[in-house]
Amino acid sequence: MSTLLKARIADVFEEPGCDKNQGKSEKERKKGCTAQLAPGAAAGGCAFDGAKIALQPIADVAHLVHGPIACEGNSWDNRHSASSGPQIYRTGFTTDINELDVIYGGEKRLFKSIREILEKYDPPAVFVYQTCVTALIGDDIEAVCQRASEKFGKPIIPVNAPGFAGIKNLGNKLGAEALLDYVIGTVEPEFTTPYDINIIGEYNLVGELWQVKPLLDALGIRILCCMAGDGRYKEIASAHRAKVNMMVCSKSMINIATKMEKRWGIPYFEGSFYGIGDMSDSLRQIARLLVQQGAPDELLGRTERLIAVEEARAYQRIEQYKQRLSGKRVLLITGGVKSWSVVAALQEAGLEIVGTSVKKSTKEDKQKIKEIMGDDAHMIDNMTPREMYNMLRDARADIMLSGGRSQFVALKARMPWLDINQERYHPYAGYEGMVELVSQIDRALSNPVWQQVRMPAPWGDDGETLGAVATSAPQATDQQATRFLSEVAAHALGLVPEEVPA
Ligand code: SF4
Repeated sequence: MSTLLKARIADVFEEPGCDKNQGKSEKERKKGCTAQLAPGAAAGGCAFDGAKIALQPIADVAHLVHGPIACEGNSWDNRHSASSGPQIYRTGFTTDINELDVIYGGEKRLFKSIREILEKYDPPAVFVYQTCVTALIGDDIEAVCQRASEKFGKPIIPVNAPGFAGIKNLGNKLGAEALLDYVIGTVEPEFTTPYDINIIGEYNLVGELWQVKPLLDALGIRILCCMAGDGRYKEIASAHRAKVNMMVCSKSMINIATKMEKRWGIPYFEGSFYGIGDMSDSLRQIARLLVQQGAPDELLGRTERLIAVEEARAYQRIEQYKQRLSGKRVLLITGGVKSWSVVAALQEAGLEIVGTSVKKSTKEDKQKIKEIMGDDAHMIDNMTPREMYNMLRDARADIMLSGGRSQFVALKARMPWLDINQERYHPYAGYEGMVELVSQIDRALSNPVWQQVRMPAPWGDDGETLGAVATSAPQATDQQATRFLSEVAAHALGLVPEEVPA
């Protein structure tokens, strides 16, 4: 690992804005946040993947991956970050290095690729991502980017986060460091207002930022820049003139917030757009900090009035689902703030939360769960797929809300499931988002497919082996095909066919 990269990693491991980090001894802190993997557990994304996830939503720049083609294939466009304009960020650019490059070095190929992108697409900047192979053969992407910047007169930004540097979260932070080192503070905005804010760590998944922006617009608050959802290069370059930074729930890019506070005196707070109460708290915090930074006091009153109207409207719209959803039980397998922030809205719709996972939750998250649900009996520390399956099969929960990885457990148990993690297809932010979430739960629960899927298989009982099901699959009806898929999914999860209920 190069000395520069080592120094940068050591720098991000020292994080004054993270309580957990500050609670560790100096020795522990140097090891970073990587949890020891259990044998057989999935390792999750690499550092390169993390950097790409954090920066790819910048919509008007070209993201060039310097490495073998598989690295780009691994990370390309996997999170539905939406753009209101340019689409170049969704084009997969890679140097696609080969064996000869490994022997002779890939720097020339990288330089040529940058030139080709600039000639063909003319983006305002090119972000160049380092990967394992090109880092191991010693390609100096910083030097190539500097040379290309000078030659072509455009910002060429090196993102030095090769996969072997660590986990995805470290990659998020290394991506943020690239913005701090090469982008933020390099352009002055055309004008500024006392109501300018930056939103950090919001990726505009399925257009969630657009559920929040109208609320800020109504208060006259301007998003000077969003890092990185629906972001533009120039906006990020001029982000240092904002009055307040909001860090959205996760601590993935906290180093931007803490360093901007140190360099430009911009105060920040950590807030969330998930859940009705949290949306309101975030609006209050933004208004309070803006007033503290010089905006007129009347902003506080206007914010409270907007909150009152929006909360009443959201709860009124959720009310219509109460009759159908009342008494239905939800198993919530997510993490962080979502482990509690969506609970109030779900309870308002009459749903009962039978359990919420706290594997990725902080001490504060757990405290919140206790406050909302009365005790810690609902907290699930680490639920295995088999336990989830049993819970759904025994009808101790009517629906599971989780990420895509757990969907096959619900499918196997023939129970409804809703994706609420990063690959989701519906936006759940702000007041609008909570109404959407309740509406999607209602749709999932009322979907007639579950009735059909639960009917006994026409070819026999459930004791049949997968092989027998596979043999009948080519002539199968839709219903048989659905069952076949659930058997295959179960097989992939290692669940035995005898566990399938009649
Ligand atoms: S671990 Fe290395 S080789 Fe694999 S995707 Fe990440 S950067 Fe590419």
